[in-house]
This record gives sequence, C-alpha cells and structure tokens, in this order.
Amino acid sequence: MKRIASILAALLWLTASNALAWSNHSFAAYRAFEKMPELANAQPVLVEPLEAFLKDQEKAVQDLLARQESWAQSQLDFYPPRPASLAFKANPAQSDAARRLAFLMALRVAPNSKFALYLQPDPWSAAPDPATLLAHSAVDTLPEQANSKLRFVALKAGDSVAPLAVLASASDEPDYGLDINLWSDSPSEWAKIYGFEALPFGNPALYFSTQAPFHMGFYHEDRVIYLAAPFVKKTLPLLRVHQYGTLAALAFRSGHAYWGWRFSGLALHYVQDLTQPYHASLAPGNTSAKLIGINLLAMAGFPRLKDEMIVLLSNRHLALEKYQNQMLYNAARAATESAIEIALRSGDKDASYPPWSDMYARDVVSRQSHALGSRLTEILVDTLPAGYVSDPGFDFGVKESGIDLVAELEKQDSTKRARFDTMVTELLGNFGAHSRNLVRGVLKSGSGK
Ligand SMILES: [Zn+2]
Repeated sequence: MKRIASILAALLWLTASNALAWSNHSFAAYRAFEKMPELANAQPVLVEPLEAFLKDQEKAVQDLLARQESWAQSQLDFYPPRPASLAFKANPAQSDAARRLAFLMALRVAPNSKFALYLQPDPWSAAPDPATLLAHSAVDTLPEQANSKLRFVALKAGDSVAPLAVLASASDEPDYGLDINLWSDSPSEWAKIYGFEALPFGNPALYFSTQAPFHMGFYHEDRVIYLAAPFVKKTLPLLRVHQYGTLAALAFRSGHAYWGWRFSGLALHYVQDLTQPYHASLAPGNTSAKLIGINLLAMAGFPRLKDEMIVLLSNRHLALEKYQNQMLYNAARAATESAIEIALRSGDKDASYPPWSDMYARDVVSRQSHALGSRLTEILVDTLPAGYVSDPGFDFGVKESGIDLVAELEKQDSTKRARFDTMVTELLGNFGAHSRNLVRGVLKSGSGK
C-alpha cells in the first residue's frame, strides 16, 4: 500500500507542477457570461477597495466567517480546522490595513495577495492603452511567465465598470498567488500559523505545487486508490468556492455590488478548474489496475513505465490547456468565432443540471469532468502530434512557449481534428454552463430569496 502511495505521489508531483488549468480563465468567462441576462442587462457598478467593503460590513463579515468555519468543519471530508486565533473579529477602532490583513488571514489565503483594483480586458476589445496598465507585480505575486497574455488595466475607487468585466477578470485571480505557500511545510511566515498540515502531495519547495490542492479535486477515484493513498482526498476547492460564494452573496445583499461580482469571480475559478478533466482525475485514461500494475513493475526494478506515465500525463494536461487558450486568443485577434465561443455562451444545457448547491462542484462538475477523462485522453493521443502527447522523452512544459498547437493541428487530418475540436467544445460548454449556474446560485442567495 505504501508503494502504491509513492507512485501516486510521483504522479501528482508532475500533475501538480503545472496546476494552472484553462490558462486564462477571463478569456473564456467573457464569452460564458456576455449574453446571460443577469450580466448583459446589469448596470455598471462602482469600484471600491476591499478595505471599504470590510469596514462597512465588519460585523456581518465576522458572523459570516464564523458560519463558514462551522460549515467547513461539518461538511468537508478533509478540513484542518482554523486556529481560533485567526477568527475575524469586528473592531471599528482598527486601521484599514489591520482589518484587511485579519480578513485575509481568517480566510487563510496568502496575506500578501494584492486584491488590486484592475480589469483584464476582453480579448475581443481594442488593445488597452499601455499608459493605463498596472505592472504585473501590482496584481499578481507570482513571477510573470514568458509570452504572458495577462494585461491589467488600472481602476480606481469610484470608477464605473461593467459587472461582466469584474466577474471575468476575477475568475482568473486565484492563480495570482492567493493559494501559494499555505501549508505547514511551505516557506512562508503565515504557513506556520495557518493550521493546514504539510503539503499533501507535490514538492513543498516548488511554489506552484503548493496551490494544487486548492485547485484540483479528486473526488471520484476508485476506492482502492483512496485506500492506497489517502492523501488523494486532501484537496480544498470546495472550501474556496464556499468562502467566496457566500462573501459574494453578502456583498450583494449589503449593496456592495462591485465586491458581489468580484467574489463571485473568485469562486468561479475553482469550479472552472474542475471542468478540466486533468484537475478532476488523478490519471485520466489509466485504470486503477494499470496504475497499480505499473507500480508493481517499478517496485520490481522496472520503473520505466511509471516514469513515462508521469511525463505523458503532464504533457497531455498542458497540451489541452495550450490549445484551448490559443483557440480563444486567435479567435479574438481574428474577430472570427469558432464553435468554442458559441458553446461557451450557449445556455441550452444550464437547466439540465441540478440547481447550485455547496456540493455542486463535487457532485456535478467534478463527476462529469472525471467521467470525460478517458475519452479526452484517447482523442488527445489520436489527434495531437505524437511528439507532444505520446513521447515520454519530451517535456511540454519546458518547450511550451515555442509551440503553436493550432498551426500544427491545421496540418492534421480534418476528421481527426474535428473530433478533437468537438471534445474541446464540449468541455468549454461545460465550463460555461457550470459557471452560469454558480452565478445564479450566488445571485439567489444575494437577493435573500
Ligand atoms: Zn487554478
């Protein structure tokens, strides 16, 4: 059993090393929401700093965060309780900075997170004036990646802004360092007091590994996997969805619409991550029996298959994300929609799912996404150049910025490419439907109904 755990740990080490998912959530979120009446017909909202919301709603935030803690302790299968000393306490005499810090530490997110006032522009709109842009480091505490498409347009308190832009921008924000270095063995000051245990999987020395357990959820693996490797259950996206989703409802109820949309966007991120099958499955396309068999071989001194599987999982994960991101970006640059934009926007399937609930991300989103993993893998392997998805000697992550997958696929057999596009379109259709269902749920509780 211990050895099975070790192969799973190794698998996760690589899966986790590139745990960003859906490279830029805002591109897809703009399309998913632009025609939803609740957004399309919404009045602009007034920008306000986080400090202003917290000051005005201090007592309500205190009560809500206490309820969130009891919810998490009673509802989540895995939840290290929050130390009592971190509870948020209303204190009208404290400074704005002290209140903000207390709030972030009560949520147990990285206290150096920026929560800047900014927008990511819709890729379909005109390029922003460079003079209006914030530095990457003013918004995101993580290093800027090569060829980054992130653009942060500065906002200031009192500006009037479209809810769609607030929501879409915030849906990418949890990848800007909010969940980095929170575990007890993480190299940060706050890790020592947050009360999370040691990083359940991955390498604690690699900062990007430390956010993975918040952005992935392996809820639908075979029982034998949980028996062999209980750490597979140690993920927390449901916590983040609940925290930000209920904060959004509070902000709407109390007349802070800007923060209503902003917190909704933050909650969305985690649901959207789980629509990526490589975030909802340990090893898509591989049976538990195969995982265990490969591990037995490794134990007998033949580790080749195990090592190869680790690389292939990572490469396929990254190739899928690269392709969808390129497709969305290219469509915007050429102002020509593909089936992906249409699927993101289509509300046809929204009502076919159960209504939003605290466990929707696990019971609906992740279940569906996990079930799609093997078909997705089969199609990826059949369609993308073998060098990228079937060659364990190739590291997609290292070479990614120089790869143009869309151009490569234009050379592919058109039937195969169509089948792959249908798969990607289905995944992004799910992304759109579940995103809107979350917002419906938040708006409903935000209106007190
Ligand atoms: Zn993420």
